[in-house]
Amino acid sequence: MRFTRSEILGCEFDAVTQRQVLDWSREALAGRCSGWLSSVNTAILVGMKPGSFLKEFTQRSALTLADGQPIVWLSHLLGRPLPERVTGIDLVESLSRLARDQGKSVYLLGAKDEIVSKSSEHLSAKIEGLKIAGARNGYFSDSEAETVAREIRRSGADIIFVGMGAPRQELFLSKYWDTLGVRIAVPVGGSFDVLSGLRKRAPQWMQASGLEWFYRMIQEPRRLVKRYAVTNTVFTVRAVTELVAHRFRRA
Ligand code: UDP
Repeated sequence: MRFTRSEILGCEFDAVTQRQVLDWSREALAGRCSGWLSSVNTAILVGMKPGSFLKEFTQRSALTLADGQPIVWLSHLLGRPLPERVTGIDLVESLSRLARDQGKSVYLLGAKDEIVSKSSEHLSAKIEGLKIAGARNGYFSDSEAETVAREIRRSGADIIFVGMGAPRQELFLSKYWDTLGVRIAVPVGGSFDVLSGLRKRAPQWMQASGLEWFYRMIQEPRRLVKRYAVTNTVFTVRAVTELVAHRFRRA
Protein backbone atom coordinates (compact mmCIF):
# COMPACT_ATOMS: atom_id res chain seq x y z
CA MET A 1 0.00 0.00 0.00
CA ARG A 2 1.63 3.27 -1.11
CA PHE A 3 0.44 6.74 -0.21
CA THR A 4 1.38 10.16 -1.54
CA ARG A 5 4.36 11.59 0.32
CA SER A 6 4.78 15.18 1.31
CA GLU A 7 8.10 16.73 2.28
CA ILE A 8 7.86 19.20 5.18
CA LEU A 9 11.01 20.75 6.69
CA GLY A 10 13.13 17.86 5.45
CA CYS A 11 10.87 15.03 6.62
CA GLU A 12 8.86 12.88 4.19
CA PHE A 13 5.36 12.46 5.64
CA ASP A 14 2.71 10.08 4.31
CA ALA A 15 -0.39 12.05 3.34
CA VAL A 16 -2.81 9.77 5.19
CA THR A 17 -5.90 10.00 7.33
CA GLN A 18 -6.33 7.91 10.47
CA ARG A 19 -8.77 5.73 8.49
CA GLN A 20 -6.04 5.01 5.90
CA VAL A 21 -3.62 4.09 8.67
CA LEU A 22 -6.22 1.57 9.81
CA ASP A 23 -6.56 0.24 6.23
CA TRP A 24 -2.79 -0.30 6.12
CA SER A 25 -2.91 -1.92 9.58
CA ARG A 26 -5.65 -4.32 8.49
CA GLU A 27 -3.38 -5.44 5.66
CA ALA A 28 -0.49 -5.82 8.11
CA LEU A 29 -2.55 -7.93 10.53
CA ALA A 30 -3.59 -10.11 7.59
CA GLY A 31 0.11 -10.79 6.96
CA ARG A 32 0.49 -8.75 3.78
CA CYS A 33 2.88 -6.13 5.19
CA SER A 34 4.45 -5.14 8.48
CA GLY A 35 6.52 -2.37 10.02
CA TRP A 36 6.71 0.39 12.52
CA LEU A 37 4.92 3.71 12.25
CA SER A 38 6.56 6.95 13.24
CA SER A 39 4.54 9.82 14.58
CA VAL A 40 6.46 13.05 14.24
CA ASN A 41 5.53 16.08 16.33
CA THR A 42 7.04 19.55 15.95
CA ALA A 43 9.65 18.87 18.67
CA ILE A 44 10.84 15.71 16.91
CA LEU A 45 10.70 17.42 13.51
CA VAL A 46 12.99 20.28 14.46
CA GLY A 47 15.43 17.93 16.15
CA MET A 48 15.69 15.76 13.04
CA LYS A 49 19.04 16.67 11.55
CA PRO A 50 20.15 15.17 8.22
CA GLY A 51 21.82 11.82 8.92
CA SER A 52 20.45 11.68 12.48
CA PHE A 53 19.05 8.51 14.01
CA LEU A 54 15.47 9.87 14.13
CA LYS A 55 15.64 10.83 10.48
CA GLU A 56 16.77 7.34 9.55
CA PHE A 57 14.03 5.87 11.79
CA THR A 58 11.33 7.76 9.89
CA GLN A 59 12.88 6.84 6.54
CA ARG A 60 12.68 3.17 7.49
CA SER A 61 9.16 3.37 8.92
CA ALA A 62 6.16 1.91 7.10
CA LEU A 63 4.27 5.17 7.54
CA THR A 64 5.41 8.57 8.78
CA LEU A 65 2.54 10.45 10.42
CA ALA A 66 2.14 14.12 11.31
CA ASP A 67 1.43 14.28 15.04
CA GLY A 68 1.12 18.05 15.23
CA GLN A 69 -1.52 20.49 13.98
CA PRO A 70 1.11 23.13 13.02
CA ILE A 71 2.76 20.56 10.69
CA VAL A 72 -0.59 19.99 8.98
CA TRP A 73 -1.17 23.76 8.61
CA LEU A 74 2.32 24.26 7.21
CA SER A 75 1.80 21.44 4.69
CA HIS A 76 -1.30 23.27 3.36
CA LEU A 77 0.49 26.62 3.13
CA LEU A 78 3.30 24.93 1.21
CA GLY A 79 0.85 23.33 -1.23
CA ARG A 80 1.80 19.78 -0.19
CA PRO A 81 -1.23 19.09 2.01
CA LEU A 82 -1.40 16.42 4.70
CA PRO A 83 -5.08 15.51 5.23
CA GLU A 84 -5.06 15.46 9.03
CA ARG A 85 -3.11 15.04 12.21
CA VAL A 86 -2.73 11.41 13.31
CA THR A 87 -1.66 11.05 16.92
CA GLY A 88 -0.09 8.14 18.78
CA ILE A 89 -2.69 8.27 21.53
CA ASP A 90 -5.61 8.08 19.10
CA LEU A 91 -3.91 5.12 17.40
CA VAL A 92 -3.66 3.22 20.69
CA GLU A 93 -7.43 3.16 20.85
CA SER A 94 -8.28 2.72 17.18
CA LEU A 95 -5.65 0.00 16.60
CA SER A 96 -6.76 -1.80 19.76
CA ARG A 97 -10.32 -1.87 18.40
CA LEU A 98 -9.03 -3.20 15.10
CA ALA A 99 -6.98 -5.87 16.93
CA ARG A 100 -10.06 -6.93 18.90
CA ASP A 101 -12.17 -7.12 15.72
CA GLN A 102 -9.50 -9.23 13.97
CA GLY A 103 -8.86 -11.51 16.97
CA LYS A 104 -5.32 -10.13 17.40
CA SER A 105 -3.49 -8.99 20.51
CA VAL A 106 -1.66 -5.89 21.71
CA TYR A 107 1.32 -5.29 24.04
CA LEU A 108 1.88 -2.14 26.09
CA LEU A 109 5.48 -1.21 26.83
CA GLY A 110 6.47 1.96 28.67
CA ALA A 111 5.95 4.26 31.68
CA LYS A 112 6.00 3.11 35.31
CA ASP A 113 4.44 -0.20 36.42
CA GLU A 114 1.35 1.35 37.96
CA ILE A 115 0.76 3.60 34.94
CA VAL A 116 1.08 0.88 32.32
CA SER A 117 -1.16 -1.53 34.27
CA LYS A 118 -3.79 1.17 34.72
CA SER A 119 -3.62 1.88 30.97
CA SER A 120 -4.08 -1.80 30.28
CA GLU A 121 -7.13 -1.95 32.62
CA HIS A 122 -8.56 1.18 30.99
CA LEU A 123 -8.21 -0.29 27.49
CA SER A 124 -9.70 -3.67 28.48
CA ALA A 125 -12.67 -1.93 30.09
CA LYS A 126 -13.22 0.35 27.11
CA ILE A 127 -12.72 -2.25 24.38
CA GLU A 128 -14.55 -5.36 25.43
CA GLY A 129 -12.90 -8.56 24.23
CA LEU A 130 -9.50 -6.94 23.58
CA LYS A 131 -6.62 -9.39 24.06
CA ILE A 132 -3.72 -7.77 25.90
CA ALA A 133 -0.73 -10.06 25.40
CA GLY A 134 1.30 -8.19 28.02
CA ALA A 135 2.15 -4.89 29.66
CA ARG A 136 5.56 -3.90 31.01
CA ASN A 137 7.18 -0.78 32.41
CA GLY A 138 9.61 1.17 30.25
CA TYR A 139 12.35 1.50 32.86
CA PHE A 140 15.02 -1.06 32.01
CA SER A 141 18.71 -0.87 31.26
CA ASP A 142 20.34 -1.42 27.88
CA SER A 143 21.60 -4.78 29.10
CA GLU A 144 18.01 -5.90 29.89
CA ALA A 145 16.57 -4.69 26.58
CA GLU A 146 17.14 -7.93 24.68
CA THR A 147 15.36 -9.97 27.42
CA VAL A 148 12.44 -7.52 27.26
CA ALA A 149 12.28 -7.94 23.47
CA ARG A 150 12.28 -11.74 23.82
CA GLU A 151 9.48 -11.57 26.43
CA ILE A 152 7.43 -9.58 23.93
CA ARG A 153 8.05 -12.16 21.22
CA ARG A 154 7.02 -14.98 23.59
CA SER A 155 3.80 -13.12 24.38
CA GLY A 156 2.75 -13.59 20.72
CA ALA A 157 1.59 -9.95 20.47
CA ASP A 158 0.61 -8.69 17.00
CA ILE A 159 0.78 -4.96 17.78
CA ILE A 160 3.06 -3.16 20.24
CA PHE A 161 2.64 0.36 21.60
CA VAL A 162 5.91 1.73 22.98
CA GLY A 163 5.59 4.76 25.26
CA MET A 164 9.08 5.50 26.57
CA GLY A 165 9.57 9.01 25.13
CA ALA A 166 11.63 9.96 22.05
CA PRO A 167 14.22 8.81 21.09
CA ARG A 168 14.32 5.95 23.65
CA GLN A 169 11.23 4.24 22.18
CA GLU A 170 12.48 4.56 18.60
CA LEU A 171 15.95 3.23 19.53
CA PHE A 172 14.37 0.17 21.17
CA LEU A 173 12.11 -0.49 18.18
CA SER A 174 14.75 -0.18 15.52
CA LYS A 175 17.29 -2.29 17.42
CA TYR A 176 14.90 -5.11 18.36
CA TRP A 177 12.39 -5.07 15.50
CA ASP A 178 13.44 -8.52 14.25
CA THR A 179 13.25 -10.02 17.75
CA LEU A 180 9.84 -8.57 18.65
CA GLY A 181 7.89 -10.66 16.13
CA VAL A 182 5.02 -8.15 15.95
CA ARG A 183 3.38 -7.00 12.73
CA ILE A 184 2.89 -3.37 13.79
CA ALA A 185 4.76 -1.17 16.25
CA VAL A 186 3.82 2.35 17.25
CA PRO A 187 5.88 4.77 19.37
CA VAL A 188 3.33 6.58 21.53
CA GLY A 189 5.34 8.95 23.78
CA GLY A 190 3.51 9.90 26.96
CA SER A 191 0.18 8.26 25.93
CA PHE A 192 0.08 5.84 28.88
CA ASP A 193 0.27 8.80 31.27
CA VAL A 194 -2.98 10.03 29.72
CA LEU A 195 -4.72 6.64 29.34
CA SER A 196 -4.02 5.81 32.99
CA GLY A 197 -5.51 9.12 34.13
CA LEU A 198 -2.20 10.47 35.50
CA ARG A 199 -2.34 13.37 33.02
CA LYS A 200 -5.29 14.97 31.24
CA ARG A 201 -5.52 15.32 27.50
CA ALA A 202 -6.18 18.80 26.12
CA PRO A 203 -9.81 19.53 25.21
CA GLN A 204 -10.76 19.05 21.56
CA TRP A 205 -10.76 22.79 20.76
CA MET A 206 -7.17 23.14 22.01
CA GLN A 207 -6.06 20.12 19.97
CA ALA A 208 -7.69 21.62 16.86
CA SER A 209 -6.09 25.03 17.52
CA GLY A 210 -2.59 23.57 17.71
CA LEU A 211 -2.40 24.24 21.46
CA GLU A 212 -2.09 20.72 22.85
CA TRP A 213 1.58 21.42 23.72
CA PHE A 214 0.47 24.34 25.92
CA TYR A 215 -1.96 22.14 27.84
CA ARG A 216 0.79 19.55 28.40
CA MET A 217 3.24 22.24 29.43
CA ILE A 218 1.03 23.65 32.19
CA GLN A 219 0.66 20.16 33.65
CA GLU A 220 4.44 19.55 33.71
CA PRO A 221 6.03 23.02 33.57
CA ARG A 222 9.37 22.06 35.12
CA ARG A 223 10.03 19.41 32.49
CA LEU A 224 8.41 21.01 29.46
CA VAL A 225 8.76 24.83 29.51
CA LYS A 226 12.31 24.81 28.21
CA ARG A 227 11.60 22.04 25.69
CA TYR A 228 8.65 23.86 24.10
CA ALA A 229 10.27 27.32 24.27
CA VAL A 230 13.15 26.03 22.17
CA THR A 231 11.32 23.70 19.80
CA ASN A 232 8.37 26.07 19.12
CA THR A 233 10.75 28.93 18.35
CA VAL A 234 12.89 26.82 16.02
CA PHE A 235 9.78 25.41 14.32
CA THR A 236 8.31 28.89 13.76
CA VAL A 237 11.55 30.29 12.36
CA ARG A 238 12.04 27.32 10.03
CA ALA A 239 8.39 27.35 8.93
CA VAL A 240 8.49 31.07 8.08
CA THR A 241 11.81 30.69 6.23
CA GLU A 242 10.39 27.77 4.22
CA LEU A 243 7.21 29.70 3.40
CA VAL A 244 9.20 32.72 2.18
CA ALA A 245 11.40 30.44 0.04
CA HIS A 246 8.27 28.75 -1.32
CA ARG A 247 6.72 32.12 -2.32
CA PHE A 248 9.98 33.12 -4.06
CA ARG A 249 10.17 29.84 -5.96
CA ARG A 250 6.58 30.33 -7.15
CA ALA A 251 7.22 33.95 -8.12
N1 UDP B 1 9.53 6.69 30.12
C1 UDP B 1 9.86 5.32 30.13
N2 UDP B 1 11.16 4.98 30.32
C2 UDP B 1 12.15 5.88 30.52
C3 UDP B 1 11.80 7.27 30.49
C4 UDP B 1 10.47 7.63 30.27
O1 UDP B 1 8.99 4.48 29.95
O2 UDP B 1 13.29 5.48 30.69
C5 UDP B 1 8.12 7.06 29.94
C6 UDP B 1 7.56 8.03 30.95
O3 UDP B 1 7.14 7.34 32.12
C7 UDP B 1 6.41 8.66 30.21
C8 UDP B 1 6.93 8.70 28.79
O4 UDP B 1 8.01 7.78 28.72
O5 UDP B 1 5.26 7.84 30.28
C9 UDP B 1 7.50 10.10 28.51
O6 UDP B 1 7.08 10.48 27.41
P1 UDP B 1 7.29 12.00 26.95
O7 UDP B 1 6.16 12.81 27.48
O8 UDP B 1 8.68 12.44 27.21
O9 UDP B 1 7.16 11.66 25.48
P2 UDP B 1 6.84 12.55 24.26
O10 UDP B 1 5.33 12.48 24.15
O11 UDP B 1 7.34 13.92 24.60
O12 UDP B 1 7.59 11.83 23.21
